[in-house]
Amino acid sequence: MRIANLAHWAAGITAAAGYWTMMSPYSQLLGPFPYGGSTADKVIALTFDDGPNEPYTSQIADFLAGVGIRATFFQVGECVARFPQVTARLARDGHVIGNHSHSHRFTRCLGTRAQRSETRAAQHALTRVLGRTPALYRPPWLLRTPTLPAVLRQHGLSPVSGEFCHALEVFQPPPRWIARRALAKARPGAILIFHDGFDSKRGNRASTVAAVPIVVTELIRRGYEFVTVDELLGFPAYQGSTQCADRDERGLAPSR
Ligand SMILES: [Zn+2]
Repeated sequence: MRIANLAHWAAGITAAAGYWTMMSPYSQLLGPFPYGGSTADKVIALTFDDGPNEPYTSQIADFLAGVGIRATFFQVGECVARFPQVTARLARDGHVIGNHSHSHRFTRCLGTRAQRSETRAAQHALTRVLGRTPALYRPPWLLRTPTLPAVLRQHGLSPVSGEFCHALEVFQPPPRWIARRALAKARPGAILIFHDGFDSKRGNRASTVAAVPIVVTELIRRGYEFVTVDELLGFPAYQGSTQCADRDERGLAPSR
């Protein structure tokens, strides 16, 4: 092989390794980034990113309230400022709220200073509405740079990954397509990622809203129960919280 070809391959492999490290839901190279819980019990954590985004977030909340399921919502600070009453309602319903940056802008995920101000602004927006400070964080696009773990530690946040319900959910394929892919990823301890919002903007999420009941109905038929991310991983949901100190015999926190 010629040297130029070798260099080409080496650059490609380096780029792929960089992608794997910084954007894969599964890479642990930049520190712990749990994408599931280690349990043999049939429990699953449903998570929703990029909200609140109306009317979709409230539609999902109405459905979850009807079936008595609690989920985890990773919310964008600007969206929380837009719909504070929706975030407050989710918390009242028993859902857990985590930090998902303030603006969800790609360029604001890269440098340390931007990461710090994004994290802090979202913590402020959430704390103002919730009356307590989140301890869970999910980076936009699951993007982690080498500087992010220290920024999160400074803010008392633990990063949480998960598995995307459907790679093309952003384009809102038919609900049954989303549901089929999501169900293919269902296993004990899975953390499934849905999107009730779209970046920090407003976008139609009707397909996701319609997919969630299909997924939940089938998972219940398969014998699954639903937990929040803090319960699944044994992490506190909020700072200064000891809610997860009590574990039952399955290693899971008692349901609240
Ligand atoms: Zn996001």
